[in-house]
Parts: sequence; structure tokens; C-alpha cells
Amino acid sequence: MKKKIAVLKGDGIGPEIVTEALKVLKKIGEKCGHEFETEELFFGGASIDKYGEPLTDETLNICKNSDAVLLGAVGGPKWDNVDKDKRPEKGLLKIRKELGLFANLRPTKLYKELENSCPLKKEIIKSGIDFVMIRELTGGVYFGKKETKEVDGMIVATDEMKYTEEEIRRIGVIAFDTARKRNKKVTSIDKSNVLDTSKLWRKIMHELSEKYSDVKYEDMLVDSASMQIIKNPSGFDVVVTENMFGDILSDEASVLAGSIGMMPSASLGSTKLGLYEPIHGSAPDIAGLNISNPIGTILSVAMMFRYSFDMENEALLIEKAVEKVLADGYRTTDLFVEGTKKLSCSEMGDTISKTI
Ligand code: NAD
Repeated sequence: MKKKIAVLKGDGIGPEIVTEALKVLKKIGEKCGHEFETEELFFGGASIDKYGEPLTDETLNICKNSDAVLLGAVGGPKWDNVDKDKRPEKGLLKIRKELGLFANLRPTKLYKELENSCPLKKEIIKSGIDFVMIRELTGGVYFGKKETKEVDGMIVATDEMKYTEEEIRRIGVIAFDTARKRNKKVTSIDKSNVLDTSKLWRKIMHELSEKYSDVKYEDMLVDSASMQIIKNPSGFDVVVTENMFGDILSDEASVLAGSIGMMPSASLGSTKLGLYEPIHGSAPDIAGLNISNPIGTILSVAMMFRYSFDMENEALLIEKAVEKVLADGYRTTDLFVEGTKKLSCSEMGDTISKTI
């Protein structure tokens, strides 16, 4: 099969981790007989330096006409003081919006070999941690009307939180479909005891759960969910929630995997075109040292195979290779402990590619 992939390496460690992910892509192409056409484009700070803006129309068009977009990370102190409308993160918001990506999927998986790096007690993690958090990405309070004004001599700030039934339904469908490919359980998180948006959220999720009768369904209030992620993470399979709750809970979940460098993500919309990136930032503190962990980016490529290309087998080849390399005791600096073998970023990419 032939696929076109737009590659946005970005800033900081972006170029080094994406280079390793591309090695893995090439290896899968050779092994499974696929052809991948990759086009590298400037994005974020690198694009500001070259074109004066974080995302040009030309780059955006190439992304729109690709089968998938692979992204490293953007930002860094060099661009902290540029005009706020031209900052690297503006490029990120724009590309997600322009590609219509309304669902963000973040798998949280604790590999057996990394149990010592998990901050939770052994008895809590003994049943394993393996769930996907699905966050609504383009609605809710972050995109509602905002206003700060003076009323009777007092400054008052307001953020509107709004959801339509269609916005809720389309992310619900992604959650239930994802659960069908996994362990067939959806936990929907809301605050329906207080918020109208959550009441609507719960109503639509219940309607969907009747259609997906093969998938086990439960509701959970967001305050309770924040405790359950720590007390009983094994109880989750697919978690779906609105934008702000997902923003906070997905960061809470990210510490369970041992290192932020391990965590992949996918942003999806109503077509097969998706954006794949590790959850971490550009890590300027270690950029250029060849010590970063490329696994989050490599696992993002596995998600690309699964969600944009419908190639489950290829996704599993990558995930199994990562598992094997960890089982063989190889670690990048962020995961290194006495008794394991330390690899640089590029050596980790080579080792995973060789293992596939
Ligand atoms: P960060 O995720 O870049 O780094 C946090 C810590 O984790 C640092 O100590 C870093 O060295 C470490 N780390 C991150 N990724 C790693 C990896 N793959 N291997 C090993 N260690 C890793 O967060 P930050 O320092 O708050 O942000 C740095 C820059 O990244 C900022 O400009 C921020 O705006 C930007 N940022 C971008 C994105 C994105 O592109 N999606 C996301 C978050 C932050």
C-alpha cells in the first residue's frame, strides 16, 4: 500500500525523535511491502525562523493532502517573546482546527519492565495499567466566549462552556469504536451533578451505549475519576471526556507510564487523516544531546498504522518490538536504572528498527 505522510519535526528534540520514528517507518515499509512518501516541512519555531509564522498555508495544504501527519514537538525559549499570535503553539492550534481534529487519543500503558519507574505502589499496579484516554479537543470552555469587563466597579471574568449534541455524539462514537477494538469497556467522565453541558454529555453517551450493547459502559464524575486513576487504574479501558477535564486527567495519567518520553498520541477527526505526536514538549533542556527518548514518537507511528491506515498488524509489529527492546534491558537516559543498558536516542531508534 502507498501512503503519503507530512513530517513536521518541529523544534528542540523534535528533529532527533522524529528521525528515529522515520527509521521505524522505513523498516515497516521494507518488511511489509508498503511505500511511504514522506515530505519534511518546517513547523513551529523552525517555521517562524524561516517564514515568520509557525504554520504557512503551503505547509497546511500539504498536510491536508496527506494520509497522515507526523509531528515532533514545538516551542522553546528562543520564541517565548515573539508576538502572541505568532507563537509556535498557535501553529499547533491552527493545524488541529484546520484538519478538523476533534478527538485526542492518549494511551497510558505501563510496560512490565518499567514498573519500578511508576510512582504507584506495587499492589495497585499488579493487575496492569493499559487504558486509552479520549479527550474532546475542539469544544467546551477553551473555545467558548471569553470576556473580562468591569461591572459596578468590580472586574468580572467569564468563560462560556458550550457543547452541542453533535460534538458529544461524534467523540462518543470514537470512544465506543475504540473500545470494540480493545477490552470493550467505556468510562465516560463528566460533572453532571453540576453542569448542564455534562447532563447533555451523559444523555448522549447513554443513547450511544444502548446502540453499542456489546460494550460495557459506566459514568463517573470527574472528581471521583481523578482519584480512581490513582487508586484503581486497572479498572479503565477507554475513558472519554470533554476538553478541560481531559486536559487535566490525561496529564495525571501520563505519570503512570514511567516517563513522559514513552507516551504517544493521536488526534483524529471524521476522516482517516490524523495527526500523530508524542505527548511531551520540545525538551529544550536536552535538545541536541542525543539522549532523549524516541519511544513516544515511535509508538505514535504505531497509532498512525492503526487509526489512519487500518494496518493493525504493522502497529503490533512496532509495539511488540518496543516491548522486546525494553525486556532486553535497553533504556534511554530518562528510564535508565542500575542493571539496564543505556542507549542514546539514535541507538534506541536503531535497536527498535532492527528488532521489528
Ligand atoms: P517538555 O515536555 O518539553 O519537558 C518536560 C521535561 O521532560 C523536561 O525535563 C524534558 O527534558 C523531559 N522530556 C520531555 N520529553 C522527553 C523525552 N522524549 N525524552 C526524555 N526526556 C523528555 O515540557 P516543557 O519543558 O514544559 O516545555 C518545553 C517546550 O515545549 C515549551 O516551549 C512548551 O511550550 C513546548 N511544548 C510543546 C508541546 C507540543 O509541541 N505538543 C507540548 C508541551 C510543551
